[in-house]
Order: sequence, then C-alpha cells, then structure tokens
Amino acid sequence: SLASELSSLDRKHLLHPSTNPKSQTQFGPKIIFSGGEGIHLHDMKGNTYIDGVSMLWNVNLGHGQKELADASYQQMSNIAYASTFYGYANEPTVRLAEKIASLTPGDLNTIFFTSGGSESNDTAFKLSRFYWQLQGYTEKRKIISLRRGYHGVTVAAQRATGIDAYRNFSGSTDPDIDNAKAHLTDCELGDKSHPEYEGSIRSIIEKEGKDKIAAVIVEPIQGAGGVHMPPEGYLKAVRKLCDEFDIHLIADEVICGFGRTGKMFGVDHWGIVPDFMSVAKGITSGYAQLGGVIMREHIRDTIAEYDDMLAHGFTYSGHPTACAVGLKNIEIVERDGLVENANLMGQALEKGLHHLEDKYPFLTKGRTKGLLAGFDLMEDPEANAPFDNSVKAATTLVEECYQRGLLIRPFDFEPGMNIVAIAPPLIINKDQMEKIIHILDDSLAAFSQKL
Ligand code: PLP
Repeated sequence: SLASELSSLDRKHLLHPSTNPKSQTQFGPKIIFSGGEGIHLHDMKGNTYIDGVSMLWNVNLGHGQKELADASYQQMSNIAYASTFYGYANEPTVRLAEKIASLTPGDLNTIFFTSGGSESNDTAFKLSRFYWQLQGYTEKRKIISLRRGYHGVTVAAQRATGIDAYRNFSGSTDPDIDNAKAHLTDCELGDKSHPEYEGSIRSIIEKEGKDKIAAVIVEPIQGAGGVHMPPEGYLKAVRKLCDEFDIHLIADEVICGFGRTGKMFGVDHWGIVPDFMSVAKGITSGYAQLGGVIMREHIRDTIAEYDDMLAHGFTYSGHPTACAVGLKNIEIVERDGLVENANLMGQALEKGLHHLEDKYPFLTKGRTKGLLAGFDLMEDPEANAPFDNSVKAATTLVEECYQRGLLIRPFDFEPGMNIVAIAPPLIINKDQMEKIIHILDDSLAAFSQKL
C-alpha cells in the first residue's frame, strides 16, 4: 500500500526532528497524515484525530483553511518570492509590517522578518547586542534566559533554552548566554534575603555587572517547558528590573502571539511592553514559514542612524507569499473573533479540567490561559509526591488519548515531571471542547486502571 511504501522510504531517507532515531528507524513513522479540516486530522489508515495541540501550537486556524490557500495562490501567481535585501520591498511584506505594528502594545512598531522562532530569537539577541555597540558599549552582550524556557534550536536559541537535552545537544555552545531560575518574583523585585536568590536574574546581573548584560529573554507563558504560568507580578517585576539596569527585555511570543492565550499577545495579560518581541507560529497559523522580531522605536531609531550595511538577513526575510498568508491569517483572526473565542473556549477547557481534577486525585495543577493549558500527573499531589520514574505517567496518558483519537503532548524531561499540554486550534467550538474533555476523561479512567 501507499502507507507502507511511505513508511519504508521514511525510515531510510528521513531524519526526524525531536524524535528517537533508533525507534523511528525500527518502528516509525507513527502517523502518516493525509489531510485535515478544522480541528481534525486524518491519516493514511483512515483514522481521524482531534488536533489537541494544534500540531506544534501553531495551526491556530485549524486545517484545510481555503482562504489561506487562496491568499497563497494569489500571491504565488503574482510574484511568489521577492527579496527585501538591498532596500527592495513588496506590498504584502510592508502591509503585514504595518498591520502587526497596529496590534502590538506600546511603541513596538518595527519588524525584522525571519522564517521562524529560532531565527527570530537569534535576531533579537544580535540586534540587542548591536544596539548596545552603537551606544558605545563594548562588552554588553550577555543574554539571560530562564530554566524551562524554550527558545528554539539554532546555536544561540538552543543555549537560551533552559531544557538540558536541547541546551546541550551536540555540545554546541554560546558563552554569552546564562540560564536563570524561573519565576522568582521577590528576587527580581530586589529581595536578596530570599533563599533562592542565588541564580535569580537579579543575582546574575549583579554578579556580571549590568554593562555586560544585553538582554533578558522570557516567554510570557512558558510553553515547551511544560506550560508554566508566571506568578502574578512576575513579568512586571522583570520589566522593572530591566529598566533599573538598562537591559533589554525580549518577550518570546512565538507560542502566545496572535490570540493563543485569549489576548492578541501574551504580555497583554500583564500590561508590559518589552523592548523586543519574537513572533512566529500563529502569525500564519503554520500555513507558511514566517517569523519576526518586533522592536520599540528607540531601538529602531538608533539602528536607523547606522550608516553602513546591516549585515544580517535571511533569504526568506519578508517572503511575499508567507507575508500574504500572514495578512490573511490575521484578517480571519479578527473577522471571526478568534481571540475572544480562545478566551471563551479556554473557560470551557478550564472548567473541564477542574472537573477532571475533582474526579482523579492524581491530576493536579490544572492551568489555562485562553487555549494554552496544561496539568500535572502526580502520585500524591497533596504530599507533593511525583510518580516514580519507572511510571511514564504523562506518556501513558497521552497514548491512551491517541488510542481514542485525541493528539496531545507529554512533557517528562526532568525526573518526576509528568506534564500534559492541551492547545487546540482557536476555531474550536463548544461541542468539540466537550469531546476533548470526554476523551480525556475516558483516557484518565483507563490510565488509572493501569496504576
Ligand atoms: N520560541 C518558542 C516559545 C517556541 O515554542 C518555539 C518552538 O516551539 C521556538 C521559539 C522556536 O521556533 P521554531 O521552531 O519556529 O524555530
């Protein structure tokens, strides 16, 4: 059959990202997708799944969106690709830049386009360091990021990532990137007597000296680290800390941006304006490869005074087709009230998770912001006791969900960690959300039988 032909070709010719190569070569691929519409995906064996994490938290408009296909067709038929190097421009790229400026908070009004999130974060690091060079600093180049932060896999983004498997992969390194402990609000506000002060962002700044630190990068809500909400006051505290020491704040909005959390951007929940904002994923709902770094006006103005070539850019910076898709994507998000829908459906999801938490004693720490949600599985939440490492709780539950036609994602990269993430497309309706909760309920019941 076609499926078995593709399977054997895949095992021989394709190296998969974030996949166990040995297991893939022996048993893969797990699913060969053949199509999709809305929140649903189909595979070559005739199965249908609910896409419970919007693939990689990016397919916000769901699958099979003909309007995005049309936008792409129209632009490709006219001019698929044109460079933005050497001062060249084209309409969709300029229009999307203006549209995004109208949506971002404060004076985040200028964008540098990339093809994805890692490139956006690397670009933010380089532009931050470049800005400080232009201001006369010679050593202000260190980037501080957080444990459990995820910022991508290019060499700099990988080092900013606070998940050891990614951070250390292949021994690549960038000596100018430090990891701080995550979410220590009091320390960042200046409480040096806090027992965890050592390793906080503030402690690193004080140890290194502010003239060596270019920027701090945080996700408004940590995603791939296991969906961790910042405690109330945290992002404001970090913004204040960065102001105090004249350090840039980079908000990595790659997951949160464009409505995922029930507001247009994650930082909008906490009313802060970062100096740089990295975006990707939801900017096109995954229909084209696009990312960008948005910067505040004082940064743009300083760079704009530089009278030589800005020696940075990707062939696909400002790709016209990707930008045309991005424009149409944002138009649909606004027209169909999808930010509001994320908010409403998020409330339904939260209610469902509360119900499951009451029903299953091992399900705990349910957390939801719009359509970005997670929960923990623990042996005994009241005693704060995790499952034994031999119990692959999150993976087992996710497998039960998969058997019942729901694709969600487990996180267990630290001993005792069993986190499950849910982040369906923003177009989801109430019945579909109930179906997700129903499948989770059945899967949890099956999982509890196996304990
Ligand atoms: N930043 C965040 C918060 C992400 O979640 C991701 C990807 O999951 C990235 C950056 C990297 O983006 P990309 O995979 O497009 O390079």
